Amino acid sequence: MPHHDPQLLLELLGPDAILCRRALTGESGVALPPLHDHHVHLHLIDERQLAPHGIAAAVDLGGDPVALARRPSDGFPRISYAGAFLTAAGGYPVGRPWAPDEITHEVTNASTHPGVPGGAATAVDEQAECGASVIKVALNRDAGPIFDLETLSAIVSSAHARAMPVVAHVQGEGMMRLALDAQVDALAHAPFSEWLDGASIARAHATGQLWISTLSMHDGADAERAVINLATFAATGGRVLYGTDLGNGQRPGGIQIDELRSLDAAGVRGAALIATLTDPWPLAEPPHGVSTFVPGAAPADLDAVPAWLAGATVVPTEELIHDDHA
Ligand SMILES: [Zn+2]
Repeated sequence: MPHHDPQLLLELLGPDAILCRRALTGESGVALPPLHDHHVHLHLIDERQLAPHGIAAAVDLGGDPVALARRPSDGFPRISYAGAFLTAAGGYPVGRPWAPDEITHEVTNASTHPGVPGGAATAVDEQAECGASVIKVALNRDAGPIFDLETLSAIVSSAHARAMPVVAHVQGEGMMRLALDAQVDALAHAPFSEWLDGASIARAHATGQLWISTLSMHDGADAERAVINLATFAATGGRVLYGTDLGNGQRPGGIQIDELRSLDAAGVRGAALIATLTDPWPLAEPPHGVSTFVPGAAPADLDAVPAWLAGATVVPTEELIHDDHA
């Protein structure tokens, strides 16, 4: 490990990066807080691949709430989840080959009373009772019916009454505006189907909305719009979280270098890139007892950070010895 300028380490990797060695092997490297993928679908991936490849915590944004509730709550990666997609009757992703019936819940009325069939509060209550810590809604005008503002607002207020944020899949003309009007807390994908004007992006930032990136799952014009929209949002000061939509398409489990490179290209670089990975959303705290370990020398400049991060793995924190004099 070469000697490092602490100011450079701070700029490249943030305030929590520590030069260290692994006690068992003596291998030197850099420790970081646990890394999160804020958008995965566990029923479509081999989750055992996550921790060996750097992901200590993952957020399932659409799965079977009962199956998720039955998971052991200890162990790694730590999983938080939304439960089912809440959607309009016949709305996305009902009937999709990757979306068995258990992972969608159709909301047909704006009732905020408990136990009303098809009601907004009933849908939120069911996910909460299965241990969900965030509510997922589908707003996809390109693929079926969508909620009206009254129903979506009722879902948001029911979730907020339980101190749960609402994250939306936003796709199609006008869907970003609907999400903003209903005070949706987060976007599951940086907006990719429409160019956002400055006023919409300023409004998203002013209301504290956060965006999960998923930049690298798109091609062509969608990819271009997602990167530019996210670059503008980030430059405005918007809160961006790393997320991959892992399970959508065939990719190896773990940290995704393409996503890191796309975020970097959108101007989310160095310590800001690390911050998108270490944010514990939707929970308040990162998982305890584990750290990220990246073997070898720390990156020498901003351009080197994404490829360097691809070497990350999850280790018990107690296994790491600080190199005080590095
Ligand atoms: Zn997804």
